[in-house]
Amino acid sequence: MAKIILLGIPAHGHTNPTLPVVKELVTRGHQVLCYNGEEMRAKIERAGGEFRVYPDTVPNTEQVARSLHTIIDATLMLIDMTQLLTPYMMEELRREQPDLIIYDSTCAWGYLTARTLGIPSICLITTFVLEGSDGAIPFGAIARHLFHAILHLPKIIRWKRWMNQTYGKEIAGGITEFGDLNIVFTSREFQPPNHRIDEIFRFVGPSINPATRQENFPFERLNDQSIIYISLGTVHSVQTNFYTKVFEAFRDYPAQFVLSMGQFTDIETLGTIPTNFIVRNSVPQLAILERASAFITHGGMNSIHEGLYYGVPQVVVPQQMEQLMNGIQVKRQGAGVLIGDKYPYGNVTIDQLQQALTQVMNTASYRQNAERIGKTLREAGGFHHAVDEIEALWRS
Ligand code: UDP
Repeated sequence: MAKIILLGIPAHGHTNPTLPVVKELVTRGHQVLCYNGEEMRAKIERAGGEFRVYPDTVPNTEQVARSLHTIIDATLMLIDMTQLLTPYMMEELRREQPDLIIYDSTCAWGYLTARTLGIPSICLITTFVLEGSDGAIPFGAIARHLFHAILHLPKIIRWKRWMNQTYGKEIAGGITEFGDLNIVFTSREFQPPNHRIDEIFRFVGPSINPATRQENFPFERLNDQSIIYISLGTVHSVQTNFYTKVFEAFRDYPAQFVLSMGQFTDIETLGTIPTNFIVRNSVPQLAILERASAFITHGGMNSIHEGLYYGVPQVVVPQQMEQLMNGIQVKRQGAGVLIGDKYPYGNVTIDQLQQALTQVMNTASYRQNAERIGKTLREAGGFHHAVDEIEALWRS
């Protein structure tokens, strides 16, 4: 059986899709050593992975969450992590001698170490394949991103130079580097058109297994009204202003609302909660979506996929550029509406919220299109397909 090292990043959105894959690999008899931040230990161990902690100077989930707010902050954080973790992992890998390295696409220390040591590598892509997806991101958003990046160009150039000098140009590659095999957690139909995709990419759809999630929830409080689920995910969730707006918008709306306000929001700051709302720091999202009539979401990649997987039409309120791009895909496919899509994103009025939800709830095509995309996501095979591909590479 294979000995596999999986390199992750301490962010729930990146770690969650890997859990069913880990569980399935372990079920099929493989040994999976998962390197990540301490806060990911419990969920990884529950999935059956052998947890290995990164050095404690690696940012924690809250710091990672803050850096992921903008692409440039995320880039700067990943540069620091690469410089710390590449030499560290090189030592670990020399000692552990794995058969395969699987790494999250944000972890440059994955391909740098794999290529240097000549170990087959698999990149897990929990977003769309962006490089080569021309037109998926509006031009204005790209221009703004480049403008912010200019200030930090010297640091980015120093980093590239360091990679080239330390590991050689061949190994360091460009800005985005893929593995020998690349597993993308969406369907080919939902991925924006992309000329970069070739035979080393496999589209497996979202990796969904409710058994790898464990949140308590008062299911007995749900009645037979429609359920509307609201979440801004785990990174951008401290948005008191947004939550008080949805209370105002929907306190008289004839449905039951479930609001996940994130780990870092204090419920005391939200004032009086309307009686048709259940508010929690975290909820079992898959189990709620299975029952939901609509999903008001920030458009995180996992959230939109999970919603579509269960055929749930969406109101997407993006909080940053990647989510804007995801929201554009949902809108293009007719599976939902996009609001708050003007920079700096996420600004919506009570009126817009009410109109968007009413439109999604009262127009059958949104659910039909969500179900159509959901079917492609299910048929892509999920974590079973991902593990089949991993095993095929290992055997080759
Ligand atoms: N999630 C959850 N319970 C919650 C909120 C979120 O289980 O109350 C999960 C959700 O199912 C998804 C992940 O956290 O798998 C959020 O990832 P996403 O990519 O949507 O957003 P991010 O948190 O990375 O912005």
